[in-house]
Amino acid sequence: MNEDPDIQDEKVWVESTGEVVRLRTKRGRPVCPVCGSLWSAGDEHAWHKSGESRPDGTPKVYPSYQICDCCNTEFGNDDTGGSDQSLASVWRLLRSEWLEKVGRCASALAQLRSNLGIDA
Ligand SMILES: [Zn+2]
Repeated sequence: MNEDPDIQDEKVWVESTGEVVRLRTKRGRPVCPVCGSLWSAGDEHAWHKSGESRPDGTPKVYPSYQICDCCNTEFGNDDTGGSDQSLASVWRLLRSEWLEKVGRCASALAQLRSNLGIDA
């Protein structure tokens, strides 16, 4: 569980994989779900809402095709694996590849901890 009150979670529904994932914001700014970098306020999320929702009210999302400046993930392309791979698992994989690329440096680990609540 993340205990940072500045991090807001929103559960959204990805119809293509049938899963419910969490998109996060920190103080109103979208957070990259792969590397935890903060995007500008008002930027689209990695996946954004279609305006429709599942019968239980969970908003349906579709890929934004935004490219994160920090980890270079293009949402909707790089994070859609095979049909047997969940979005959350592809994000985890991309996150570990990014961490390797930046040499697991302290600033990258701090970014994940502070903005995604993840201890990598
Ligand atoms: Zn990123």
